[in-house]
Amino acid sequence: MERPAKSRTLRVFFALVPDVATQALLGVLARDVALRAGGRPIVNANIHLTLAFVGEVDPDRIDLLREIVIALPREAFVLTLDCVGTFRRAEIAWIAPSHAPAPLLELQSHLAAALAKDDFRIEERPFHAHITLARRCTRNIARARAIPLEWRVGRISLLASIAGNGGVCYRELAGVSLFET
Ligand code: ATP
Ligand code: MG
Repeated sequence: MERPAKSRTLRVFFALVPDVATQALLGVLARDVALRAGGRPIVNANIHLTLAFVGEVDPDRIDLLREIVIALPREAFVLTLDCVGTFRRAEIAWIAPSHAPAPLLELQSHLAAALAKDDFRIEERPFHAHITLARRCTRNIARARAIPLEWRVGRISLLASIAGNGGVCYRELAGVSLFET
């Protein structure tokens, strides 16, 4: 008798994905920074800010994660991305807000608490909000102020990371739009 196929896990994380116009602006910066840091730029469509990396999850636990997204605070906010640098060990170049606004920190801590409550293990390192612009960087670039880019954050997404021949791509499994107040 044939054995039932083993259920495949999904590699998932929560992220803020910019609108396509903001992704395009960040993409231009990514290509510039990648050149300077000797790395590979992230393609526009993959540009995101990770709120919480969950990792491999059984498909039958995905609904729990969907419920978590739905219960998150829904207020839209602006993130001013104004600082560029590299993380040497991770070999990435990034852009980040020099000041993380309260709604962002609230969102991340709300998410961490909800995940812990449902027994999902997430990273215990402190949250350092950043957007990866380039990977496999071979040179460091000095941390510097960038021309501030004002990103109006309008959506929170639960993404599945799918590895393919042409590189990784992300699929939205659940998402909520944030409200202007
Ligand atoms: P690839 O690994 O193929 O280069 P990727 O890093 O974009 O692509 P994932 O490894 O699935 O894809 O990661 C998805 C997101 O989660 C990325 O923002 C990544 O930086 C972050 N991430 C991955 N692993 C961890 C981890 N162990 N801790 C915290 N964040 C992580
Ligand atoms: Mg990775």
